[in-house]
Amino acid sequence: MSRERNCPPKADILAIDDTPENLALLSQMLTEKGYKVRSVTKGSTAIRGAKAVAPDLILLDVKMPEMNGYEVCQQLKADDRTRDIPVIFISALGDVFDKVKAFQVGGVDYITKPFQVEEVLARLDTHLTIRNLQLKLEAQNSQLQQEIAEKTAAEDKFAKAFRTCPNPIAIAAYESGQLLEVNQSFLQMSGYAISEVTNKNIGQIYSKSAWAVYQQAVHKSDSQGFIHNLELEFPTKSGQIKTLLLSMEIIELGGTKCTLQILNDITERKRLENEFISLVSHELRTPMTSTIGALDLLNSGQLGTLSDRGQQILRVAIRNSERLIRLVNDILDLERMKSGKIAIQPMFCSLEPLLVQAVETMQAMAEKAQVKLLLEPCDANINLDSDRILQTLTNLLNNGIKFTEPGGTVKLTAKVQRDRCQIVIQDTGRGIPADKLESIFERFQQVDASDSRSKGGTGLGLAICRHIVERHHGKIWAASELGTGSSFYISLPLQHQTRN
Ligand code: ADP
Repeated sequence: MSRERNCPPKADILAIDDTPENLALLSQMLTEKGYKVRSVTKGSTAIRGAKAVAPDLILLDVKMPEMNGYEVCQQLKADDRTRDIPVIFISALGDVFDKVKAFQVGGVDYITKPFQVEEVLARLDTHLTIRNLQLKLEAQNSQLQQEIAEKTAAEDKFAKAFRTCPNPIAIAAYESGQLLEVNQSFLQMSGYAISEVTNKNIGQIYSKSAWAVYQQAVHKSDSQGFIHNLELEFPTKSGQIKTLLLSMEIIELGGTKCTLQILNDITERKRLENEFISLVSHELRTPMTSTIGALDLLNSGQLGTLSDRGQQILRVAIRNSERLIRLVNDILDLERMKSGKIAIQPMFCSLEPLLVQAVETMQAMAEKAQVKLLLEPCDANINLDSDRILQTLTNLLNNGIKFTEPGGTVKLTAKVQRDRCQIVIQDTGRGIPADKLESIFERFQQVDASDSRSKGGTGLGLAICRHIVERHHGKIWAASELGTGSSFYISLPLQHQTRN
């Protein structure tokens, strides 16, 4: 049974010999071993055939009348389509065979007639294997070339974007935090020369608070791949503090894990925003104060009695005016604190009376809301600005009461842990979604857009609290379970030098 019907041929061989008997013999020998053989008696026909369909290997008789083997081989090697096909010469014993010429014109080997089956097969096998390996290598090579070209193109694009991007960009080693590269915009923004930043540690260039934001960004980018727009304060070389938004992605550069930091300088935008807010607030405060005075006068009855409907409208007007003046005061408070116009004046004092005072201040509101206020005794002496910490505590108690249903409780506790004091305001209220636990400390951030209307808040309280606590070198954060309640934690050092 012929193997051709079942298996694909081992290889396609083109045999050229002017003696048909030789060809028949060769063809039979090779076909039996599973090769596909095309037999041709003339050199010119063989060249045409090889160009039309390239064989895997050519067996070529040296001595032929019209065009001898050397000439056929030369022509095959001169054409791109046939150049790489291995050619094995066949010479008869007793023929004048110039081996050197055979190799010079491009032959890879030769065999002699009469054929020895094993020898022909062994040589064929060797050269087909070499040819196959060569083809494989060429394919791998061209794939590699293509990959390199694609990578280079991608790198070129990245390098161009890096260079020309108007945003400051910095790349630092992930592990060590060492700055590897920064772009021109980074140098312009920071005022540093390239030699002053490369190979420095990020911690040496960023401020302490910016370094903390950087680490927070690394942590988040690690878990979610990237992070966008974290605000930080960056000290330039000349000492100017710039407000930047940091976006980060973890990348690999030359086999090293790195952080790619894209910054957005919003200093000017922030300045204009703050200026606008404070200007509007100042302009609003005077007329609002006199409006409230007028409304109070109306409410006192000194100008006559109002109808029930009039009283009702007056109450709404007073409530809204008070909310507006609270908002204006909060904005100005925050602005003054941020610009350092309000100094923190710490004094060493006992914490307990401050906690009692905070609870007493909020007692009336708690009773009205039917929320129980609890205070656990605490024996701690601490260095703090009591007015400002009282403001923080009343704000947090106010929130706790506001967001807790009647019948619920708000508890104030404090305990000393080594050189720090931890104050906790815990409520049994509606709770805060996990993704809002951090953002509520930013200006005008509320869990629900209707909170300011329905609860009378301004969305500035927690931003002010955080500012006060940080000015005491402390930390403030929230934890919560939806529907169960929230806890606000303040951790303060017992002794410290305040930053004004
Ligand atoms: P507001 O004046 O609106 O209370 P804050 O900055 O104090 O402003 O609080 C921001 C937002 O955080 C609130 O509007 C509310 O959505 C949420 N929040 C604050 N404290 C609590 C709390 N104890 N329980 C539930 N939500 C709270």
